[in-house]
Amino acid sequence: MMGGGKYIDAHLHLQDKRFDDIREAVVKRAVAKGVERMVCNAVSEEDWHAVAVLAKKYKHVVACFGVHPWHADKIEEGWLQRLEAFVLEGCGIGEIGLDGIAQVDKQKQEEVFCAQLDLSARTGKPVTIHCVKRWGRMLEIVKTFELAATGMLFHSFGGSQETLFRLLDMGAHVSFSARLADPARKKMRQAFLQVPLDRLFLETDAPDQYTSFLFHDLKTLKSGENSACSEPGHIVRLYDFAAGLRKIDPDVFRERIWDNGQIFTN
Ligand SMILES: [Zn+2]
Repeated sequence: MMGGGKYIDAHLHLQDKRFDDIREAVVKRAVAKGVERMVCNAVSEEDWHAVAVLAKKYKHVVACFGVHPWHADKIEEGWLQRLEAFVLEGCGIGEIGLDGIAQVDKQKQEEVFCAQLDLSARTGKPVTIHCVKRWGRMLEIVKTFELAATGMLFHSFGGSQETLFRLLDMGAHVSFSARLADPARKKMRQAFLQVPLDRLFLETDAPDQYTSFLFHDLKTLKSGENSACSEPGHIVRLYDFAAGLRKIDPDVFRERIWDNGQIFTN
């Protein structure tokens, strides 16, 4: 059932308002290119319903529900029970995490993050984690939860190699975005080369993380605006680029990463 000419985009936000007028076309273009699994992450309770609807409409959409650290201060009474109901119908918990740059209170971020890690441990659903400038605390928290068996994906990885090895020791998967194509990101490329193929993912984070390094001729315009955003179909370029960095056959590379997608089908 796995394998073939299929790609997984391990992290994106198809429900984002920037896709409102073009979503159907964006999904069609992606599927036409072989992007047959798109791991769609909610960011706050406001979009849980939208993500659930997308997963019902498109069989290629993998639905993850959660509260992003940027929105940790917007939770409302009873949120965790409501989240659990969505999670049990979906494939995972995300996007959750810690962000040292966001204005949201750190204590609040941790409280919301831990509640969702606990939900993962209880339900057996994998988590997708965002971490910016909070790696020390992140490692301390994550090691107190037994999440290796349920699946733990660190998306858009930008940490050090030391952090990377600690995450891999804990059984984590690590995903890289098209930032990898920025020649200035030397450390990121080094980390990327260290990740065993059975722990690796690639992602667009669409509509975010558009980069002219890879997508210069693949612009998608945000509705009503003039700046470009990324879309899941762009990931084919990232796979080719990444396979080149690792000096591996692109078909073998794609198949190995596709197989990793089983963490979302537990
Ligand atoms: Zn994201």
